[in-house]
Amino acid sequence: MQVKLLHDLVEEMAGENTGRIVEILFGKRDVNEFSIAKKMELTINQVRNILYKLSADGLVTFIRKKDKRKGWYIYYWTLKTEKCLVRLEKSLMDKIDGLKHLLDSRETRRFYSCKSCAIEVGEEKALEHGFSCEECAEVYDLSDNSGSIRDTKSKITRVEKDLTLIQGELVLLRAKIAKKRAKEDKKMDKEEADRKVLMKGIRAEARKKVAKAKALGKTVKKKVSVKKKIVAKKVVAKKKIVAKKVVAKKKVVTKKLSVVKKKLSLAQKLKKRISRRK
Ligand SMILES: [Zn+2]
Repeated sequence: MQVKLLHDLVEEMAGENTGRIVEILFGKRDVNEFSIAKKMELTINQVRNILYKLSADGLVTFIRKKDKRKGWYIYYWTLKTEKCLVRLEKSLMDKIDGLKHLLDSRETRRFYSCKSCAIEVGEEKALEHGFSCEECAEVYDLSDNSGSIRDTKSKITRVEKDLTLIQGELVLLRAKIAKKRAKEDKKMDKEEADRKVLMKGIRAEARKKVAKAKALGKTVKKKVSVKKKIVAKKVVAKKKIVAKKVVAKKKVVTKKLSVVKKKLSLAQKLKKRISRRK
């Protein structure tokens, strides 16, 4: 249904026999312009003219890719469904406005017609010409508005039905778009949360390493200080031993010295005695 309405909208905008492009593009993405031209049996320039008109209102968008073999750009077209429906909604509302205006004038004003010339005029114009046809001078008949009123009313009902349908489609489409967006947001939120968890893990790991290194440093320091103490104790003990040995040696030496001194004094006494005898 919306395809048919969009078909009519495109014809209103881009001219007769252009509406077929809607059936070709609807529900697809990035359609090659040469395939559009082939399907529509139009030249590439005719197709581009239609698409440029529609793209001016944002109803279609394109991407272009360079053809590596031929060296020129090929355009790929996508119908923007939401934009199309919005445009269609506006067009239908305008149509309803116009029809209601027409209905109002049929219901409140008189019209006069000449059957042989098949023309109809308003009351002011009929009065201007003395209620006779300005073409054939025949006296005007008062138009029966009832048929026209009935037609206009049924037209309004039909267009209002289309409008309701399109507005329903728009609500659905927008809900779909919102859902897709919410899903994307959720995905992004999750990625962000995952990233945070990962960073937290990395930071915790780094902190652990630092703590470990610090602890290791402390242990090494402790070991070093214990070793230093042991070495210092050993040094002290050795020093004591050496000192003891020195004292002992001194004693021995002193003893020896006293013996030597005694011997010396004895020798001197002996020497004196001998010299006295001489
Ligand atoms: Zn006439």
